[in-house]
Amino acid sequence: MKNKTSIKEKTPVRKAKAPRAAAPAVAYAIVPKDLSAHLFQVTLTVQEPSPEGQLLALPAWIPGSYMIREFARNIVQIRAEADGQPVALAKLDKHSWQAPPVEGALTVQYDVYAWDLSVRAAHLDQTHGFFNGTSVFLRVAGQEHVPHVVDIVRPAEDAARTWRVATALPELKARRYGFGTYVAADYDELIDSPVEMGDFALATFTAHGVPHDVVITGRVPNLDMARLCADLKAICETQIAFFEPRTRKAPMDRYVFMTLAVGDGYGGLEHRASTALICARADLPTTAALGRERSEGYIKFLGLCSHEYFHTWNVKRIKPAVFAPYDLQVENYTPLLWLFEGFTSYYDDLFLVRSGMISEATYFKMLGKTVGSVLRSAGRTKQSVAESSFDAWSKYYRQDENAPNAIVSYYAKGSLVGLGLDLTIRQKSGGKRSLDDIMLALWQRYGRDFYPDGRRGVTPAEVEALFDEISGMRLKSYFEKYIRGTEDVPLAKLLAPFGVKYTDERKPAKPSLDANIGREGADAKLSAVHEGGAAHRAGLSAGDLLVAIDGLRVTGNPSNLESLLSRYRVGDTVQVHAFRRDELMTFAVQLQGDRVPGIGLAIDTARKSAVSRPTSPR
Ligand SMILES: [Zn+2]
Repeated sequence: MKNKTSIKEKTPVRKAKAPRAAAPAVAYAIVPKDLSAHLFQVTLTVQEPSPEGQLLALPAWIPGSYMIREFARNIVQIRAEADGQPVALAKLDKHSWQAPPVEGALTVQYDVYAWDLSVRAAHLDQTHGFFNGTSVFLRVAGQEHVPHVVDIVRPAEDAARTWRVATALPELKARRYGFGTYVAADYDELIDSPVEMGDFALATFTAHGVPHDVVITGRVPNLDMARLCADLKAICETQIAFFEPRTRKAPMDRYVFMTLAVGDGYGGLEHRASTALICARADLPTTAALGRERSEGYIKFLGLCSHEYFHTWNVKRIKPAVFAPYDLQVENYTPLLWLFEGFTSYYDDLFLVRSGMISEATYFKMLGKTVGSVLRSAGRTKQSVAESSFDAWSKYYRQDENAPNAIVSYYAKGSLVGLGLDLTIRQKSGGKRSLDDIMLALWQRYGRDFYPDGRRGVTPAEVEALFDEISGMRLKSYFEKYIRGTEDVPLAKLLAPFGVKYTDERKPAKPSLDANIGREGADAKLSAVHEGGAAHRAGLSAGDLLVAIDGLRVTGNPSNLESLLSRYRVGDTVQVHAFRRDELMTFAVQLQGDRVPGIGLAIDTARKSAVSRPTSPR
């Protein structure tokens, strides 16, 4: 596939740091062995296996995505040998193998099935290959800290003749963007450096002197790479200058945005010197655009890039203590994701304003939507963001139809907790201090020296103490109410002194079932029933298939239900026929008004708002 884009290519060949010669290297070769069968073949050579017998294990989860995924289930075949003789591997549990003591080097070979089109695992076909180390590289127990070398081999198939390689891993024996040997300082860096291979579009820009690659896989006609690079450069430079106002020194010496463009998709995963993104091709800018205005979809994509880039500091270097180091075989519980994901969500859009991508008015409009989405769910009254963080593994990442009634998002409410703290500190310090100062202190004390030697994370108690120290306030009751407790952050009150008007523009009561309706084929299906709402009180359940309202058919077209209900008033009772499993049931539903808050945030033009501006760096 070819993308006719204004691609500027640069191939600066940077010398990789050679592994320490004395260290026994762990070496992998990864071959896209069969594109049609989606198989990578991995060969691992351990020069000096443990004399007691070598333990090997594949991670059960990938940092940044807090769910046990059992990547080892995709290992199709595994065999080992030493000195030319087969060695029997004993399987210990779902992701670990034990080799017996052997003389000399141990070689292990296995296939990995790669057919997960997400940023979290591995994917391989004729159009491209992508993998995270957590999906393909067995960990050699006891040798995590030695340099890890990986030979990325070009697939034999014709389709791959023009493929190149994108990764933040330093080259050992490879040209930049070429197949060949790459090196990581340790296992942690290896699995924190995803690899994309294919016929991708590529451009490079520098941000405060550091080269940043933009890699786009997937067909995107008339991709406006120049514009994308210019916008990303502004965002990246603003963030670098935020954390290091004096030196403007980025925490990495190279960065890669690797993006898979598809018909419909959205997501990203952060890494220390790169990010893997998935987006809708319609969200990427086109040279055929008539105006210079950024579309809503493009702003959403820039917000995603801004989010993952902010993680370069917040969570990849400033980390919860339990992530330093990660235990990749089991859940790593932390009550702090409201800070690492929530604050990152607060700052991602804020940096769109600070870098000139969106206006303050647009920013407050987006913020209003986030406030509305949080206020909508009854789950916010039952779970705090600290609890939501802790239970991410079994609740946030494994949401079912009852999620809106039972849980709160540490992203969305976490970002409002950040806003509330920002406003509180700005207000009480007379505009001299802000959340920015907290982030800078976290960076200076825990993040800046994390690699290669510091590796100390922050505990919940240290976070709270640091807030008090830097703000010069006692914020205990804020933590009690809004972080460990389930109270709503009083944003109307907090925003008022800054000239931002908070209004609840609830639409004049449109009759509603107060449930989420999904589509199943040509039918309408209740996907979630909101606690206390009309559907709930009448006895309808998530999973029910709507058949008719007062004898008129309900179809899967969302406007059909709306049009049927528009003939009634709030308070009217209608007869609803619905299938539960295959049994027809009848419900009397008293329609209720729209409970969805429409939060409007607007700057009072008579006064000047300074909410989005940074406080002066010290
Ligand atoms: Zn994130």
